[in-house]
Amino acid sequence: MPTSLAKRIAASDYLSVRNEVLASILEGSTKEAVNLDLQGGVPSFERVRQDLEEIKRLYDVQASEQLANVAATSRRTVFRLIGVLGITLALASASVWAIQRSKMLGAIQLAKLQMEFVASVSHELRTPLTVISSAADNIADGLVGGKDQLKRYGSAIQNQCRQITELVNQILLFASTKDRKNRYTLRPLQVSQIIDSVLDNTAELVEGAGFAIEQRIESGLPSVMGDLSALSQCLQNLIVNAVKYSGESRWIGISAFVENSEERSGKEIRITVQDRGIGIDRLEMPHVFEPFYRGAAVSAAQIHGTDLGLSLAKSIAEAMGGTLSVASELAVGSVFTLRLPIAEKQ
Ligand code: ADP
Repeated sequence: MPTSLAKRIAASDYLSVRNEVLASILEGSTKEAVNLDLQGGVPSFERVRQDLEEIKRLYDVQASEQLANVAATSRRTVFRLIGVLGITLALASASVWAIQRSKMLGAIQLAKLQMEFVASVSHELRTPLTVISSAADNIADGLVGGKDQLKRYGSAIQNQCRQITELVNQILLFASTKDRKNRYTLRPLQVSQIIDSVLDNTAELVEGAGFAIEQRIESGLPSVMGDLSALSQCLQNLIVNAVKYSGESRWIGISAFVENSEERSGKEIRITVQDRGIGIDRLEMPHVFEPFYRGAAVSAAQIHGTDLGLSLAKSIAEAMGGTLSVASELAVGSVFTLRLPIAEKQ
């Protein structure tokens, strides 16, 4: 028989004995009631008492089992919490370490670039300064005689001063484009307006070097959005290079036309500056737009330059929302292409 059923039977036995005892008392048979109580009531009450004891013990066992369960669960929760906190802490430490490391590498890289920058600028300044200094020494020491010789020295000093000024100007421009301090004034510009400005600025150099510039400008070109002086500087650098790197050729071509854009939907303006000069080696092509890069042949031929021209031109093109690219072949020539977005609301 299940224990709970047995306990219920014991309790109901006691209740029926107690009812019989009460009935006997009410009927006046006290003796019979005492006998009934002694024979049936006391033993069945004893059983009920034992049952209650048993119930209490069972409750105690269950309560301590539940307490043990709660303790085990809370211990597991604490361990899990410690685990999660530990992992979070490890991940956070790893992220902080990675950020600090990348910051440090960035700072080292920046310091390296700054050192290279200073070294390149010093190197570029040394040659003209040496020429100026030795020319001045010769004049001061009375080694330069006659008007003609003095004139030659004077123009050598003038040339070197021009080179230094050009270098300093390019460095200032380069620094301002890199610092994003250079705030361009963008406005709709006619392509012919840009090209006229470039040709005006380079006329002396181009004509002085005996070059002929062939222009092919499509008529009715839409305007571009840009800064006139910056775009003019960009194309000017390309023309100066075409003059420097043309070898025996004395021809430069400038063209401007509308073309479907390869990068965005719609059309764009393309302005090309072409020469039939020394060209660029295939291996050097990826580097020509880097600041302070100078081609090996150009270095060997000691052709003067600031080594910032193309890097500057590219920065300007990109600041106007455009691109600058090159196609070239050694001993055949180079074509630099400036792509510019068309101004909206034509
Ligand atoms: P720089 O001309 O002062 O050296 P640039 O940044 O203008 O500096 O040009 C970087 C290099 O790209 C040059 O040293 C040269 O090797 C190459 N380059 C640029 N333009 C031309 C060109 N039109 N023809 C051949 N090589 C060129």
